[in-house]
Amino acid sequence: MRTFLPALLLLTMTGALPAAQPIKVMLLDGESGGAYHDWRATTPYLQRMLEQAGVFQVEVVTAPPKGADFSNFKPDFSKYKVVVSNYDVPDERWPDELKQSFEKYMQNGGGMVVVHAADNAFPKWKAYNQMIGIGGWRGRTEADGPFWYYKGGKVLPDLSAGKAGSHGARIAFKIVNRVTNHPITKGLPAEWMHVPDELYARMRGPGENMTVLATAFSDESNKGTGRDEPVLMVLKFGKGRIFHTTLGHDLAGLNCVGFIATYQRGTEWAATGKVTQKVPADFPTATKTATRADFTPPAKK
Ligand code: ZN
Repeated sequence: MRTFLPALLLLTMTGALPAAQPIKVMLLDGESGGAYHDWRATTPYLQRMLEQAGVFQVEVVTAPPKGADFSNFKPDFSKYKVVVSNYDVPDERWPDELKQSFEKYMQNGGGMVVVHAADNAFPKWKAYNQMIGIGGWRGRTEADGPFWYYKGGKVLPDLSAGKAGSHGARIAFKIVNRVTNHPITKGLPAEWMHVPDELYARMRGPGENMTVLATAFSDESNKGTGRDEPVLMVLKFGKGRIFHTTLGHDLAGLNCVGFIATYQRGTEWAATGKVTQKVPADFPTATKTATRADFTPPAKK
């Protein structure tokens, strides 16, 4: 017997039906802590990854450079469902009015995605650190919150003194999902290998309203802590939702199907509270990394 499903129903069931209203994304860049974070190179990758998910409309917003006048930089955050930050600056770069405008957007239910060194930014901006949960470098110390790490099923604070932020050499490492029923992690393998990248450790911050979705073991033999360090987390700030990934140092670190999929899913979740995307078939496994040919970094000159 042959049965036919109405075409529209079939499209809906297979997930092929395009979203009627694309999710508006602001991808923020314009500065980093150093040439090692090449935002001019990584932003196009981050943009294309979102565009490939088929549910987003992405607009890149480039903040003025260091030393420029910020008085006319007043992005209308409320035009966007989510702000993806590929941006790292010291506290004094943003005028108070701009900081307050972003806080208000988040309090009122905005979305934010923190990629890698965006968690280095604004060490003394209290609300920003509440949004990211943990951060590193730029002079952060015990005054800015404890170290946070994962042990025995819990996210624990370490109140000891010291600088925030470290990483070893860029080698492949295993990500372990700790929360498997969150919309972002649901359906992902419990463990997966990430491509050679920086594994952030010794991160400090308020750690409030923070759920650590995934961790990676920071090996002492590679300047690590001997602890399971948070790498993917979600947070609440007012009515706002935040997805924070510490992964993605450079083009090679971004070219991991695990990074791409969690970033696409995390951005949708931060914007809407839901994830409609399927887990890609080429997702990495517990023993094997996975990359995409169309995100292969250009050969070095
Ligand atoms: Zn880095």
